[in-house]
Amino acid sequence: MTDTEVRDRGGQAGTEPATGAALALHRLSKSYGAVRAVDGLDLTVPRGQTVALLGPNGAGKSTTIGMLLGLIAPDSGHAEVFGMPPERAVRRGLLGAMPQEGGLVSRVTVRELLRFVAGTYAGTHAAPLPPEEVLATARLADIADRWVDRLSGGQAQRVRFAVALAGNPRLLVLDEPTAALDVESRREFWENMRRYAERGTTILFSTHYLEEADEHADRVVVVSRGRVVADGTSREIKRVVALTTVSVTVDGETSWLGRLPGVTAVEVRGDRARLRSSDSDATVLALARAGAVRDLEVAPAALEDAFLALTTEEK
Ligand code: ADP
Repeated sequence: MTDTEVRDRGGQAGTEPATGAALALHRLSKSYGAVRAVDGLDLTVPRGQTVALLGPNGAGKSTTIGMLLGLIAPDSGHAEVFGMPPERAVRRGLLGAMPQEGGLVSRVTVRELLRFVAGTYAGTHAAPLPPEEVLATARLADIADRWVDRLSGGQAQRVRFAVALAGNPRLLVLDEPTAALDVESRREFWENMRRYAERGTTILFSTHYLEEADEHADRVVVVSRGRVVADGTSREIKRVVALTTVSVTVDGETSWLGRLPGVTAVEVRGDRARLRSSDSDATVLALARAGAVRDLEVAPAALEDAFLALTTEEK
């Protein structure tokens, strides 16, 4: 698609964009000096999905999100939101974002802040939500008259969420939304999110917790070293990411271990073998049937190791 076509489509009035996936990232790359933060990343998200961008710290999630929001200029490649450049989607209220640690202004109340944000959409094609509806959706009604600089961590996060909702976005982008929250605030946050997602909003959020991706996303995109290394349902991703280590003592020959179901790697030291498995039940059953093993141990592999394995296998 040429730039002109993108512009023509984006210029139409109204809140529901006529065409385009909710977001499309085309061979996005961004380096900081010698660090390739994002390295030729492609991703298309159709409307209505809730997608987790899962990866270890430093994988390039925030940089990707920065480019998706039009806040960071890519070195090459480009991002589209509903078939238009991100900046235009933001102006039309189609794209709402919650950055990782967005500072909130001081000396205003929660309600004043949300009225102000709604006011910034005046004169645009956006159809912002009435501030009172935003307050209710983000469960802020009871603290609407508090100063925003006097809130607890969980309350401040709800205000950031409310700011992201103010334009009534069709795509909501959240960078590690629960990073600074305690367990209770986390739970509350995801409840609010889920209610919002039920309206058909497309949601992209980043996390380095597999459990969070598992519980809250329809689709999990694993990012490591600036690239997509796995993309699937949470069930599929868990099969490759949630690896298990099965250790056994083996008498004699060990080459058959690598052919057991689920086994993706074998490391032998003396008579002890460590098997990496993507299906520990099947591996353990097969070992039991083989009978020639002792001292069986099963332990989850560290998620960081799994990410690394995916990245290495991909090359
Ligand atoms: P994530 O969000 O997955 O933790 P980031 O996108 O923040 O990853 O970072 C990806 C890589 O780019 C890291 O190595 C990080 O140190 C580097 N990086 C990110 N932002 C900057 C910056 N502004 N200046 C220099 N290096 C950066």
